[in-house]
Amino acid sequence: MVNIMSLGGSQEVGRNCFYVDVDETKVILDMGFHLEQFLELSEDEFLTSKNHTLRKFMNGGAIPDIRLLKRDRKQVDAIICSHAHLDHVAAIPFLINKFRCPVYATPFTAKLIRSLCQEKNIEFEIIEILPGETFHVNNVKVEFIQIAHSTPQTVAIALHTLKGVILYANDYKEDHTPPFEEETDINRIASLAGKTKAIFLDSLYAPDEDFCKSESYAREQVLNLEGDFSNHRAIIASTFSSHIHRLHTLVDLADKLNREVIFVGRSLCRYIEAARDSGVLDLTTRGRMLNFKRKVNSFFKKPFNPKDYFFIVTGHQGEPNAVLSRMADGMFSFSKDDAVLFSCNVIPVPISINHRLALESKLSVFGLSIYKDVHVSGHAHAKDHRHLISLLKPDFLFPVHGIPKMQDAMVKLAREEGVKNVISLKVGEFFSTSF
Ligand SMILES: [Zn+2]
Repeated sequence: MVNIMSLGGSQEVGRNCFYVDVDETKVILDMGFHLEQFLELSEDEFLTSKNHTLRKFMNGGAIPDIRLLKRDRKQVDAIICSHAHLDHVAAIPFLINKFRCPVYATPFTAKLIRSLCQEKNIEFEIIEILPGETFHVNNVKVEFIQIAHSTPQTVAIALHTLKGVILYANDYKEDHTPPFEEETDINRIASLAGKTKAIFLDSLYAPDEDFCKSESYAREQVLNLEGDFSNHRAIIASTFSSHIHRLHTLVDLADKLNREVIFVGRSLCRYIEAARDSGVLDLTTRGRMLNFKRKVNSFFKKPFNPKDYFFIVTGHQGEPNAVLSRMADGMFSFSKDDAVLFSCNVIPVPISINHRLALESKLSVFGLSIYKDVHVSGHAHAKDHRHLISLLKPDFLFPVHGIPKMQDAMVKLAREEGVKNVISLKVGEFFSTSF
């Protein structure tokens, strides 16, 4: 028998967390937070005691509700993380001490998790596994298969059970021409054809036809800005802090423009340090880091020539406390000759849409140039999914990581590809099968 339960990440975007009980082995795949709920509840002034906070976060859907596991919680053998995005790992600092098992992750993801936990002084075992490697959790062989996404060392997790493979690909895309050699190992995935019983797929862009564009396309778009940007005074760029390869491209653009890179913001520096410490890429040698408010304030208080620098800052979603918003609120004196580059999309949730609108209207008062959506997604579109499904022909498919209309699109396309059992789990719902 295999028992599967969603603890989060079903019918919603965020707090990805799935429990799988198979071959007398119990594992949890990912343990993320739900950004929107988390921000909302973090602003709640009544969050005081630790346990109260935990209860409130679980009740409010900000972190996975591990109470659903009841007595099984103590028997969980491993927490296995697919990648370093916060909606896949950021609940670990809150919940890890409720478990007695190690966390498995790729080195980059592991460094990031350690960094998140450091502030809370939490001790636990974390085991680093490289993409392409396998390890055992009790009776189950686990394989990390390299896949392309928008943060380094992302893996699909293959659970090799006695009855066949359960493949967890949440998140992924099929990028055959990545600029920095993190291609989806489609040959390895294809070799699981005939053995794969069930797959979990992220549904975020299931309604979008075609393949997801390659990161090489975004790199080209960014580097093509060289001509435009050579006429600007201050240049301020912002992207997802976890998107190390995009940051690499932005740094390359800064080099072309002969400007010194200044990375500004705590989360940005956290991911850059994780990339350096895991051997992924060392950007710390290519720019100065201002990670704490004190350093940031002291830099911006002193006079400097904006034309000397290329600022890469946090705040692409317009988060009020992030660097870009603080710059717009007066930390920096913008002029009409400046450029702000958003190398990202706006996350399609109300809080981000509103924050970004507010930020853009503040910036537009200065009459500066705003470059938006210079970006490609890290998530599979319909054709990526169709290809993967047609390769593996699984008996079961679990659409995850999407609001209902996204998961419904996945249900439809999976059925069109001939998958007989397409199961849209609800959070807290148990699904059992003998395959
Ligand atoms: Zn992701």
